[in-house]
Amino acid sequence: MPSPTETEHVRVVIVGAGVAGLSAGWKLAKAGFNDFVIAELEAQPGGNSRAGQGAAGPFPLAAHYLPIPTQEAVAVRELLSELGVLIGDPRAEQPRYDERFLCAVPQERLYRHGRWEDGLVPAVGIGADERAQYKRFFGLMESFKRRCDQGRRAFALPMALSSRADDLVALDRQSLRNWLLAQGFDSPHLHWYVDYACRDDFGTRADAVSAWAGIHYFACRNGQARDASGDAVLTSPGGNAWLADGMARSIRERAGDRIRTGSLAFRVIETGDRMAVDVWSPTEQRVTRIEAEQLIWAAPLFLVPHVFAGNASLKAAAATFSYAPWLVANLTLARFPAERSGAGVAWDNVLFDSPGLGYVVSTHQQMRVRAGATVFTYYRALAEVDPAAGRALLLGTPHETWAEQVLAELEGPHPDIRQVAVRVDTFRLGHAMVRPTPGLIWGTERARFAGDFPRVRFAHADVSGFSLFEEAQYRGILAAERTLRRLGRDFVSSLA
Ligand SMILES: Cc1cc2nc3c(=O)[nH]c(=O)nc-3n(C[C@H](O)[C@H](O)[C@H](O)COP(=O)(O)OP(=O)(O)OC[C@H]3O[C@@H](n4cnc5c(N)ncnc54)[C@H](O)[C@@H]3O)c2cc1C
Repeated sequence: MPSPTETEHVRVVIVGAGVAGLSAGWKLAKAGFNDFVIAELEAQPGGNSRAGQGAAGPFPLAAHYLPIPTQEAVAVRELLSELGVLIGDPRAEQPRYDERFLCAVPQERLYRHGRWEDGLVPAVGIGADERAQYKRFFGLMESFKRRCDQGRRAFALPMALSSRADDLVALDRQSLRNWLLAQGFDSPHLHWYVDYACRDDFGTRADAVSAWAGIHYFACRNGQARDASGDAVLTSPGGNAWLADGMARSIRERAGDRIRTGSLAFRVIETGDRMAVDVWSPTEQRVTRIEAEQLIWAAPLFLVPHVFAGNASLKAAAATFSYAPWLVANLTLARFPAERSGAGVAWDNVLFDSPGLGYVVSTHQQMRVRAGATVFTYYRALAEVDPAAGRALLLGTPHETWAEQVLAELEGPHPDIRQVAVRVDTFRLGHAMVRPTPGLIWGTERARFAGDFPRVRFAHADVSGFSLFEEAQYRGILAAERTLRRLGRDFVSSLA
């Protein structure tokens, strides 16, 4: 890379305008602080929460829903209230939500053995022993959900607020699959369902996911709504882009033009009392040095060894994180395809024993008024091979081959999918999300990034060990609040 041709000075530089970086900027701007800049390599802010736009309207490029916030997710409620989607007091036990964002029923269905079933847990033809195991498993998850130790829930969201009881932390040292087997769960359909959940949330199979992280998935949600059930989710045609766009808009309104897109941070140097971040602009073909008192690193942690000068132990800690590769395909359809028998089309349509997880329907929220053109957003975590092999496969397989594989897979549930598909867009994410492998969540390496360094804070969802909107937002706001404290600024915490 060339040397910088100019140097710019701000008090705070944020790298990455995904949910974490935008949340950091949102909090700084809300506290009345505007001496910051956010450097983002893509042309649009939002990271994994961006949307694409096609003939049938917007569609998600990755993240597509936000469950009703938990009791502890006070910052999520504050944001939803500011965006007008949570109506009334954001601290109310059961707030009301704008029905345009509450996922319309039916929310989910499962394609299995040639027909659609309601819900995601295999139900048709399941014997008494397996049903008894389902019941015991969900009972156990319910007891984890209710458990509290010294005022902390066993599995809270954000995860940083969870109990640190020894028996719970010990769960992180084994895989979810081994934990299930040790509890006497051997039902193949329960194992399929749990494995599906791990592929869906972590891009990783249950035998490589920490039991703590896997149980967290089932036991962390305790949100309640006045106008929806507790397991309801908020969604929109462009997935979670409305949340990212809402924060970007809020930053602009409060602090002006702070987000610099098309700006790739490739070198970070600590120079005495300042942080220097070198940023490459491919359109201008030049490097700008941004010098700041404080740095919030809201880009993925796997970049740390490549970008941060010096600090061998931090680089070694970053190298212990592993990442799941994903393929997302958006199929623009002239009309809804033909259906097999069973449950009718839902928002989330899951495929049993298939390479892909299934698809969400971008026009689901409008279905009652218009059933014409639509977009199916298909998801596949390349979890069947190790992440490096998955990335090689992702990169080495041309778009046409991926599109053909996706169409062939969807031909099972929808025999005329090829006749109605007018366009297939594929989106490859090599390091899509951090994998919560055994030992990562409560290990020393992750803890290092969660700490508060004198001039640097790490804010990406990676810092939590798994990637969810709530975690990315918490990390971003925490980093901003720590930064404001370092700068001696007064503010009202969004996390208390
Ligand atoms: C396929 C998929 C589906 C998902 N579905 C959901 C869902 O439904 N609900 C949910 O809650 N979560 C979902 N997630 C998780 C999602 O990752 C989080 O919700 C959240 O968007 C993560 O935000 P982040 O800021 O931590 O990370 P990112 O989205 O990774 O943001 C990091 C940002 O840093 C930028 N960047 C990287 N390197 C540099 C650099 N060198 N210089 C400057 N900028 C840089 C990136 O371009 C990006 O904008 C999904 C993820 C994937 C991959």
